[in-house]
Amino acid sequence: MGSWNYKVFWDEVINQAKGDLGEHEFAMWFNIAYDSSTESSVIIAVPSNFYRDQLISQYQKYLESKLFEITGKRLGVEFIVQKPIGTEQEKADARQEDPDPSTKRQSRQKADERSARERGKHPQLRADYVFENFVIGDNNGFAANAALAIAKNPGTSYNPFLIYGGVGLGKTHLMQSIGNRVWVESPKMKVICITAEDFTNEFIQSIHDKTTQNFKNKYRNVDVLLIDDIHFLQNKLGSQEELFHTFNALYDANKQMVFTCDRPVSELKNLSDRLRSRFERGLNVDLQPPNFETRCAILKKKIESTRIAVPDDVVDIIAKNISTNVRDLEAALTKLAAYAQLVRKDITLEIAQSQLKDVFSQSKHGNVTIDNILRVVADYFKLSYNDLKGKKRTKNIAFPRQIAMYIARDITEYSTTELGFEFGGRDHTTVMHACQKIEERLKLDPNLESTIQSLVRSIKDYSSKS
Ligand code: ADP
Ligand code: MG
Repeated sequence: MGSWNYKVFWDEVINQAKGDLGEHEFAMWFNIAYDSSTESSVIIAVPSNFYRDQLISQYQKYLESKLFEITGKRLGVEFIVQKPIGTEQEKADARQEDPDPSTKRQSRQKADERSARERGKHPQLRADYVFENFVIGDNNGFAANAALAIAKNPGTSYNPFLIYGGVGLGKTHLMQSIGNRVWVESPKMKVICITAEDFTNEFIQSIHDKTTQNFKNKYRNVDVLLIDDIHFLQNKLGSQEELFHTFNALYDANKQMVFTCDRPVSELKNLSDRLRSRFERGLNVDLQPPNFETRCAILKKKIESTRIAVPDDVVDIIAKNISTNVRDLEAALTKLAAYAQLVRKDITLEIAQSQLKDVFSQSKHGNVTIDNILRVVADYFKLSYNDLKGKKRTKNIAFPRQIAMYIARDITEYSTTELGFEFGGRDHTTVMHACQKIEERLKLDPNLESTIQSLVRSIKDYSSKS
């Protein structure tokens, strides 16, 4: 047996990884140390099983190929789990006053990493639903910044925080990011994350088991309570009642609550008024579908983390063709990556087009375009297409235009910004205003609803033929 030592090579790998991955990702996952070498592998100590599994799935291949580049030898990377050592000394170091703020920051960062390490992963939170993986665009900027502020000082402002919006737009991701951030930065805080459905089931079970007191204690003794998809509570009066009391207890104790919902709270049905008013009490923000640039940025972020080579023109056609939601964007990319891996080819525009043909045509909603909406609405009101799209503001044009905007908002996935652009280069606030106007009129005028419904049918009909 020779005594192998690949430490210098490993150090170089780590050096390069720091540059490749960026500071944050590196700090998050490379909490590891060289341990020893065998003839054919380098053995690396990691602080927990969780880290080991993540490193194997996310980074092992990458590290091995780096090692190969540097040594010219095919060496394996193996991980062993070792409890962190020297923490007493590190704690002593951290206690010492250090005049240099950068060192202080480093030691604080170390302390954070250590607490994350000691605490492990939060059992109910996904490790990848963190702020660092959340791309901010004008569709979600306000929500994301509010979420960051809340994670920094839970319970002090914006309580409760409620995120609403359509499926696949990042509600769960953003909510869990708050949980993950608090979990890492405030080791003393208790965080619970649960879906409204599980909350309901657990509550019912506790009645059955006669353990409601335990249930109450559990949910009334947290620092941060995250409840996903509260639209599930519609019609569930018992669970609403229970949540109402939980809410009051947490609210009075300044404990942070975060909820997500697939629509504005005002549109929930069969929800008690008092719970509704609690949900609406703090800050309610919506997530909109991302615009083209944000869709590209999200794809690029995702590509970065998976380390698959995807050319820009491919990113471009995916982002152009899938505007519905982020989950579909990711699914397209995953499909493409899986195919490329299977046939061992690089992803090209041709491959993307042929592999994603079906995905693209599905997400087009039977070809409903703004143009089609304008044509059908113009026809119905006996106006010209150009008038409807143009700048004239006379009443007989303004109202049909508002209807067209309202319908477009309802049945396409365009953001208000994109719609403003499509409707003759208007501002997104014009679109929002139009939708509000129509919503108000809908409340007063029962005929308008059926007019709109029949327009929508015609538009879909027209679109499926075009
Ligand atoms: P929702 O809860 O609104 O249905 P999710 O939070 O489950 O949506 O998001 C769907 C997927 O899209 C997740 O994989 C999430 O990570 C991703 N995603 C959504 N928004 C963003 C964003 N702004 N940046 C990066 N990924 C995002
Ligand atoms: Mg969700």
